[in-house]
Amino acid sequence: MITIDGSQGEGGGQIVRSSLALSLVTGKPVTIENIRAGRKKPGLLRQHLTATQFAAQISDATIEGVELGSNRFVFKPGVVQAGEYRFSVGSAGSTTLVFQTVLPALMLAEGNSTVEIHGGTHNPFAPPFDFLTNVYLPLLKELGPTVIPGECQPGFYPAGGGSFRMNISPCQQLHPFELLERGKLVRREVRAVVAKLPKHIAERECKLIARKTDWDAKCFVCEEVTGSSGPGNVVMIELEFEHVTELFVAFGEIGKKAERVANAVIQAAREYIATDAPVGAYLADQLVLPMGIAAHQGHACAFRTSPLTQHTKTHIDVLQRFLEIEIVIEETGDVRTVRLCKR
Ligand code: ATP
Repeated sequence: MITIDGSQGEGGGQIVRSSLALSLVTGKPVTIENIRAGRKKPGLLRQHLTATQFAAQISDATIEGVELGSNRFVFKPGVVQAGEYRFSVGSAGSTTLVFQTVLPALMLAEGNSTVEIHGGTHNPFAPPFDFLTNVYLPLLKELGPTVIPGECQPGFYPAGGGSFRMNISPCQQLHPFELLERGKLVRREVRAVVAKLPKHIAERECKLIARKTDWDAKCFVCEEVTGSSGPGNVVMIELEFEHVTELFVAFGEIGKKAERVANAVIQAAREYIATDAPVGAYLADQLVLPMGIAAHQGHACAFRTSPLTQHTKTHIDVLQRFLEIEIVIEETGDVRTVRLCKR
C-alpha cells in the first residue's frame, strides 16, 4: 500500500487525481491523507469525489472514506474494464480534470471506451475543453492512444451544465516521444466566447487583442454559445506550431471589464512566446503523467519547457512514488529540458 501525503508541495487536487490515475495504471493500492490540505477549503470537493468514484467504477475498486469533504481515503483498484461510462460532477466542477483521472487507465485497457461527463467544461484553474482536444490529445496520440472528442456543450462556473463525450482507442505499449522544438508557426486563432451575455463583450475582447497584436482579422472569432445553463465568457488564444499547439485562456467575471480579460490572455500568450520552449507551464504539468507511464514501460520521453512550477514539481514527486522512473531536469538559461526514462 502506497501512502500519499496530500499536503505535500502544492497540496491541491492534482495529488489526488494523479494518485488515482497511477494506482489504476500500476494496480497498486493507495491511501491518501491530508487531502488538499494546502487549500482554503480542504478535503474532497465534488470534482475530486466524482474523479474518485469514476476511478472506482472503471476498476471495480474497494474504497473506504470516499465522501464529500473527506480528508483521507483508501483506494484498492481491481481490474480496469474498458466500456461505456457516463458520470456527472453534479456541480460546475471541471469535467476535463475528471476525464484526465480515468484516461490513463482507459488508454491502456483492453478495448475501446466511450466516456461522457457532465459539469463544467470551461473552468478557471483547469484545462478548458479546447485545451484538452487541441493541445493535450494530439500529443497523447504521439504516445500511442487515439482519443476522438465528440461535441462539447459548454458549461461555465458557477452554473455548470456542460458536457462532452470522448471515444478512447487504447494502446497498451506506449511509444517513446520527444517534444523539443515548436517548429514553424502554422496558425493563430483568438476565440472570444459568450453564453447568456451580450455579444459586444466578445467583440471588445477581440478588438483589444487585435489592436495589441498585428494579427490578421481572419484570426479572430466571436462566438455566442446556445444551450448553456448559465452565463459565461472565455477568451482563448490558440497558437498552432508544426510540432505543438498551445492554448491560453482568460475568463470573464462579474465586475471585470472585457479589456482586463483580454489583457490577461495576451499576457499569458506573450510569456510563452518570450522563450522558444514548445511546452507551456500547464502543459508541462499534464504531460509528465503520460510520459511518465511511457518511461515506466521502458520508452524514454523528453520535452522542453519553462522553469517548472511548484505544481509540476509536486506532480513529479507523486509520479516517482508509483512508477519506476528517473526524471532529469537540465537547465539552459530560462528553458528546462525534462527527460524521463526507466529507472
Ligand atoms: P485545487 O487546487 O483547488 O485542489 P484542483 O483540484 O482543480 O484544485 P489543481 O491541483 O490546482 O487541482 O490542478 C489543476 C490542473 O489544471 C493542473 O493540471 C493544471 O495544469 C491545469 N490547469 C489550470 N489552469 C489551466 C489553464 N489555464 N490551461 C490548461 N490547464 C490548466
